[in-house]
Amino acid sequence: KITVVGSMSTDFVVTTKVKPNQGETVFGEKFATAFGGKGANQAVAASRLGMDVAMVGAVGKDDFGTAILDNLVKNGVAVTGVERVTHAESGSAHIVLYDNDNSIIVIPAANNEVKPANIEKFTDQLLTSDLVILQNEIPQETNEAIIDFCWQNGIQTLLNPAPARSIAKEYIEKLTYLTPNEHESAIIFPDQSRSEVLAQYPNKLIITLGAMGAIYHDGIKEEIVPAFEVQPVDTTGAGDTFNAAMATALLQGLEMSAALRFANLAAAISVQGFGAQGGMPTLEKMKEQSQY
Ligand code: ADP
Repeated sequence: KITVVGSMSTDFVVTTKVKPNQGETVFGEKFATAFGGKGANQAVAASRLGMDVAMVGAVGKDDFGTAILDNLVKNGVAVTGVERVTHAESGSAHIVLYDNDNSIIVIPAANNEVKPANIEKFTDQLLTSDLVILQNEIPQETNEAIIDFCWQNGIQTLLNPAPARSIAKEYIEKLTYLTPNEHESAIIFPDQSRSEVLAQYPNKLIITLGAMGAIYHDGIKEEIVPAFEVQPVDTTGAGDTFNAAMATALLQGLEMSAALRFANLAAAISVQGFGAQGGMPTLEKMKEQSQY
């Protein structure tokens, strides 16, 4: 079983050709909502790939929170570990798409209410997990408390450190897997070359390289696992799909290079659909691919 402890949110997306100046009102073209939050995205991706997945986190008591839970349930994710808080609204992201540009405002709200003190409420969920997945959209202290707890109890952990924030070496040591993209890796390891850090954390540190795929050190040498060549329509959620698929494959006993190939394939399919969750493949869809 995979437990994802992390963020859930609603994306509010508007499209406009004209950027409003300060104090100005303009007419845009389109409005859409989409389910997001890296935690929820990764839970949905792993569930579609056939894993038993439980979500832990917090949403508000508002209608957005209800919709977020409904969407998780519809995707086969267990939500008994999601707390509904009264003192904060559900997390949201407000995205404006211009022709060649975008701007985003994130309101963490309930996602910031996942506190270390709450861990007691979901230790059972953690203890029955084969792997716990974390991202950087809940408080750092909570991630640290969970990494400590899992390390003490012999439960595997994967931290996808997105959005970028630094993390103490002590916690990197305790993690089973750390999966930054290149930008996040440079922030976590500012003083070392990429090759140095990869060699320091063989089979633990996996750096994703966008359309190039992913790179890691297998204990003897560096290995690049190339991405699949596709025409992306929306790369939102590529990293989320990659992480969930990598976790799924490793839990099923694949070795690292094969797991990353599986993750690259799932992510390549996901970038061909709109929205973070829109393109995420099911296991059946994966099996239809000639590269499977
Ligand atoms: P993030 O989305 O977190 O910034 P990356 O951009 O590194 O992370 O992408 C994560 C993974 O998604 C890559 O390792 C790759 O497997 C896949 N991916 C991303 N962009 C593309 C692309 N243009 N074509 C094919 N695969 C892609």
